[in-house]
Amino acid sequence: MLEINATETVQEGSIFGQISTMDHEQLVVCHDQATGLKALIGIHNTILGPALGGTRMWPYATEAEAITDVLRLSRGMSFKNSLAGLNLGGGKAVIIGDPKLKNEAFLRRFGRFVESLGGRYVTAEDVNMKTSDMEYIAMETRHVTGLPQIKGGAGDPSPVTAFGVYMGMKAAAKKAFGSDSLNGKKIGVQGVGQVGKYLIDYLVKEGAEILITDIFEEKLKEIAKTTGATVVDPNMIYDLPMDIYAPCALGATINDQTVDRLKCAVVAGGANNQLKDEAKHGKILMEKGIVYAPDFLINAGGVINVGAEYYGDYHKETVFSQTEKIYDTCLTILEKSEKETIPAQQAAIEVAKARIEAIGRVKLSF
Ligand code: NAD
Repeated sequence: MLEINATETVQEGSIFGQISTMDHEQLVVCHDQATGLKALIGIHNTILGPALGGTRMWPYATEAEAITDVLRLSRGMSFKNSLAGLNLGGGKAVIIGDPKLKNEAFLRRFGRFVESLGGRYVTAEDVNMKTSDMEYIAMETRHVTGLPQIKGGAGDPSPVTAFGVYMGMKAAAKKAFGSDSLNGKKIGVQGVGQVGKYLIDYLVKEGAEILITDIFEEKLKEIAKTTGATVVDPNMIYDLPMDIYAPCALGATINDQTVDRLKCAVVAGGANNQLKDEAKHGKILMEKGIVYAPDFLINAGGVINVGAEYYGDYHKETVFSQTEKIYDTCLTILEKSEKETIPAQQAAIEVAKARIEAIGRVKLSF
């Protein structure tokens, strides 16, 4: 048996090495022969409360890839939940495999794994997991949120997410242009899915000049028709001059291939993990003088929504007013970033950590 004590040096690349680098509390391996379920649950930090974060299902090429993902994503949830002012810690689950493997037995088995943690981890939807999947999970555990309204949940969190993105965008505009009015500002929205379409509604009301792009032409045509937005080619969105670029599709769109093409003053959107390399691309944006509203700060409306649902204290008005505070938090972070000449992403992580440290009376190493 392998024995590791607290003082032993862990080997680079080992599971204990990775857990200690990012200072996770727990990594749980779940396996069920009968259903073929293979899942990992990462609990990063529970100082603020139970670790809340969605479950992602993905056909990871290797186990190492899945481990890295669950550790990285659960750490991100500690920061997101802290900055959003929630009394929730950071956690995430990944299920390894083709989403076609999902069925009632498979999902209920996963629900029993979540239940076995006794509420230390609370799950919700993420990539390749649907509301209907959450219903099966909820048959086995109370520690699940993001259920449909018909099942007593708060329903789709996207309208709240979009509202938070809008608040963060206005704060970033205030920093970049001296006014938070988006009237007449040219804004490129990449991805007109759930978050993008609700965000566009706010931008239309403010009188912004909107450019939209997506890989689904039908959706684009429909939204262009109802909003008067101009459709642009998905590959051109990085090259067009605009005031604000709003990534609302995939992650990692700010990368080595795109960062030097951007001709905007602000990046503010709903997509998760927009910076391919947090440190490198965050720094490049700062050096180019582009104001970046950190994604995990401004897209937190969704987790505010599911967090309220989990605590059984859901009031739509309260959820929206808590999400509105993203405006002030974003301004504080952008000011810290400017004053200390550090990327906004780093400033946001420092503020998130400071809250966890103050509540836990600890000094964190992650
Ligand atoms: P969605 O699937 O409804 O919409 C994403 C849209 O992006 C789709 O219309 C898709 O066709 C489009 N798209 C995909 N690849 C593209 C490309 N290369 N170029 C242009 N468009 C492309 O997803 P969503 O719920 O709107 O979420 C959008 C982003 O926001 C995701 O990164 C998600 O993780 C993040 N997010 C969503 C929520 C929420 O409440 N829905 C909360 C937090 C973060």
